[in-house]
Amino acid sequence: MVGDDPASLIYAKAKRKVAGELGMGFAFFPLAAATSEADVIKVIEELNAAENTHGIMLELPLPAPIKKERVMAAVSPLKDVDGMHPVNRGYIMSGEEGLFPATPQSCIEIMLRSGVEIAGKHAVIVGRGETVGKPLVFLMLRQQATVTVCHSKTPDLGLFTRQADILIAAAGKVNLITKNMVKPGAVVIDAGVNETPEGICGDVDFAGVREIADWISPVPGGVGSLTTAIIMRNVLKGMAWQRRMSR
Ligand code: NAP
Repeated sequence: MVGDDPASLIYAKAKRKVAGELGMGFAFFPLAAATSEADVIKVIEELNAAENTHGIMLELPLPAPIKKERVMAAVSPLKDVDGMHPVNRGYIMSGEEGLFPATPQSCIEIMLRSGVEIAGKHAVIVGRGETVGKPLVFLMLRQQATVTVCHSKTPDLGLFTRQADILIAAAGKVNLITKNMVKPGAVVIDAGVNETPEGICGDVDFAGVREIADWISPVPGGVGSLTTAIIMRNVLKGMAWQRRMSR
């Protein structure tokens, strides 16, 4: 973590807690906001080379002068538990195995564990961000869904969302998805996290949409509550990958 972003600190502490519960070693590297890009990369390179380190996660955002793309590309793809390295971004598209971002994986895990059938369904994803919407497109294609992607330039969002068997919101906009935008019987997954004076909420008007959806994931207590566990699963996946590569 570079700097003192309060949300990053919460996420880092959550990972330390879960790692402790799992009996997994954990080290936290808080670097001052003024740390140079070269010095951040140096820390990462040391961790890349360390045999007792199997996963590296860079908390975002990074302070402005640092180019996040350069720092992310410095993490070994085999230890990139956040799935942000260009190699892993390529693997997600090509259908090969790799380490993929946790939040889109959480969206899928929630559905699979709830017995929702994804294959052959029309999934509409609202948001094409690099951490959630875009990787989710490729993970949903792997699950054999037909995928439509909407974003801020989509005219008449409801026209698209009403066609969804599975509607996934990943836009970061409070109450973006309302009851009149959802097909009765749809599965609605809310990946949005928005801070409001009343507390954390998602992108979906939960109270309204739950009346007509078959399944709906709450915020908080839905997608976000799984992501730390999935990051830890990525550590194990990365560890197996590192062992295969060292043979
Ligand atoms: P992002 O990079 O900011 O992307 C947001 C996307 O939403 C963009 O593609 C944007 O369209 C689209 N959008 C914004 N307003 C819209 C509107 N009115 N109608 C349709 N599309 C709209 O965000 P992100 O990093 O992908 O994250 C998305 C959400 O997931 C955020 O709420 C974030 O907090 C949350 N999140 C949750 C977790 C978790 O653990 N649960 C983890 C990471 C992120 P354009 O591309 O046209 O701008």
